[in-house]
Formats: sequence, structure tokens, C-alpha cells
Amino acid sequence: MGSIKAANLYRALRNVVVKGPIAVVNGREAIHLCSNDYLGLSQNSQVVKAAAMALTHVSQASSRLIAGNDPVLEELEGVLARHRRAETALVYPTGYMANLGVVTALADKKTTIFSDELNHASIIDACRLSGARVQIFRHNDPGHLEELLRRPGRTIVITEGVFSMDGDIADLRQICRIAQKRGAITIVDDAHGDFVFGPKFSGVPASFGVDVDVHVSSLSKGLGCFGGYVATSKKIRDLLINTSRQFIYTSALPDHLCAAAIAAIPISKKGHLQKQLSSNIKFLVSRLRKQGFTLGVSSSQIIPVMIGDEKKAIKFSQELLKRGVFVQAVRYPTVRKGSARLRISITAMHTKSHLETALDAFSAANGKTCLV
Ligand code: PMP
Repeated sequence: MGSIKAANLYRALRNVVVKGPIAVVNGREAIHLCSNDYLGLSQNSQVVKAAAMALTHVSQASSRLIAGNDPVLEELEGVLARHRRAETALVYPTGYMANLGVVTALADKKTTIFSDELNHASIIDACRLSGARVQIFRHNDPGHLEELLRRPGRTIVITEGVFSMDGDIADLRQICRIAQKRGAITIVDDAHGDFVFGPKFSGVPASFGVDVDVHVSSLSKGLGCFGGYVATSKKIRDLLINTSRQFIYTSALPDHLCAAAIAAIPISKKGHLQKQLSSNIKFLVSRLRKQGFTLGVSSSQIIPVMIGDEKKAIKFSQELLKRGVFVQAVRYPTVRKGSARLRISITAMHTKSHLETALDAFSAANGKTCLV
């Protein structure tokens, strides 16, 4: 612990009560700029009502293969399969478990997995757990992937759709073309792009018009609900049901959470929330740039304000909180050492007035930390 503290990498829990675009952090009210509830659906009255109406018990208290497979789970899977234009879908209790479940079912020590260097921790853990040989390709670099992808045998290419810490979007047109040319299985974790990008907001692969073998996603981000899922072929779904330990040996997602997701999906398809989100992104990005901040190459609702030094990043986020703005400082091991940043994520719930207040706080906090 001492060395973690000395390197400014110590983490402590805070008390956070979320109220849509506002969060009460350790008793202090602040504009919430680190939410994954990109469309604000977690507090949509129709979604909340659907969950409440379905609440006859708290959970099925059983795994899917025993007594947990309430029909609402397969109803949700049908909706999700259509949404991702896949043959089928399979719900997991979380997106983290979906990554672990699918990668360990598809890969073993005879497999080589090609994984983007900035892939999420759940993908890294999944690759490790599978026992496969792992080759890391440079971030979002199809050329490097092509150079590496010369191994014979079973191969998998795995990437995020929208990268969770940088907010940039994977070049899936090239990545999928190269992977498919070499006969590799393609897996895209679209936790941050799902319900936000693509035709009918069906995610990043559809926005490039590419087919992937396995979509992994979370229901707790764009959809504002809870749970994870995989959308894929019938054959892979069947394999997961029969071999994926993260599916078999855990309790089923509670049915009221499935009902909430089923209610949220049609609302996410209307498009007005994504329109508001996109206008908020444009406004905040242009104003932060004008104020002189260095932003990452994001093209999404995840906007990294690059700082570098871990101590400075923490100080900046503390100064922001004092001024009523809640932004997380993201540090190693979540990102590379020396590439600490403030990871802003904005939502459709933020008003211009929230964003103006946040921008004023950034200016004032900068006066204290002399970042720009
Ligand atoms: N994949 C990515 C890219 C993520 O950012 C996250 C959550 N931070 C997950 C998977 C895990 O999703 P869940 O929170 O549903 O476990």
C-alpha cells in the first residue's frame, strides 16, 4: 500500500448519490461528469415503471440452467439480437462477465488472440483466463494488426468499439477486413458505443456496415439499465450455454432488470436523446479547446482532458469538486503511467447551464493547478 500511495495511485471509495446529471459526492452536490448513463435512461419514468411493475420478487435466486431462466430473459435476448442484427443473443449478469465468458469459451492455449493495446481490463482478464497466446497490436492500428496476424491456427481479433478511456472509435472497417481475410474470429466489445452510435443506434460495427462474429456489450451504459450480453450466431450461443463458466455457474440477471431493458430499448431508438448528447459533446469540446486544454482524439461522449502527471490529475479533480463539478482522474493501471487524465463523460441529461458551470470551474481549477 505504501508504494501505491507514494506513486499517487491510491484509490479510496467515496459516497456518491446519483441524481441524473447531478451527484452528491461525500455530501457535496456537483455536476456529474463521469456517468455512463449517456442517454439518461436509468431515470426515465417509463423505464423505472417497467422495472417496478415487474418486481414481484427481487431475483429468481437461481442460475439460468437451474430455475433462473424466466421467460423475460429470452424475450430480452430476442430484442437484443434484432437490435444488433445478430442471429441470437445471450444475457450475462454483467458486461465484464460477458467478456470473460465469451473469450474463455472460444479460446484455449492453442488459440492466438490479437488484442488492441488499450482494450478494457475485462478483455485483458478474459484473454489471460483463457490461457491463449496473446499478441497486442498498437492502438487502433490495422497496419500493425495485419503485420502480426500471420500465424496459422485458430485466431481471434478483439477490440472495443468506442474505447472506454480515450473515447475514440475503432477503425472496424479495416480491422474486420484484415481479420476476415485471415479467417480470424472477430469480437467487438461495444459497451460505450451501443445505443449511442450506428443506424438505429445499434452500435459501432453497424455504423461501419461490417459484420462481426461476436458483439459484447453492457446494458448499464447507453441503456442506463444493468447487465451484459453477447450477440452472435446460434452455434456460438449454444457453445456459451454449454461451456461458459461465467454463464453456467452464476445467478441469472433478475427479471425486473430485464423488463427495464426491454422498456428502455424502444426509447433509445427514437433518436432525440442521441441528438441532445451530440450537441452537448460539440459544445463542451469546442469550449474546452478554446480554454486551452489538451483533449484526447475522442469522437464520442467520453472526453479525456490530458494531464500526464498523476498528482496533478488528482489535484485538478479535487479543485473541480470544490467548485461543484465531479470528474474522475484516471490513472495507472487503468491508463499508461504518465498519461493520467480527467475523463469527462457527458450525457443527454446535461443542460447548457450545467456545461457552462462546468467550464467556469475548469477555468478556476486551472488557475490553481496551472495546467494550461
Ligand atoms: N467493457 C468495457 C469497454 C467497459 O468499459 C466496461 C465497464 N466499464 C465493461 C466492459 C463492463 O461492463 P459492466 O459494467 O456491465 O460489467
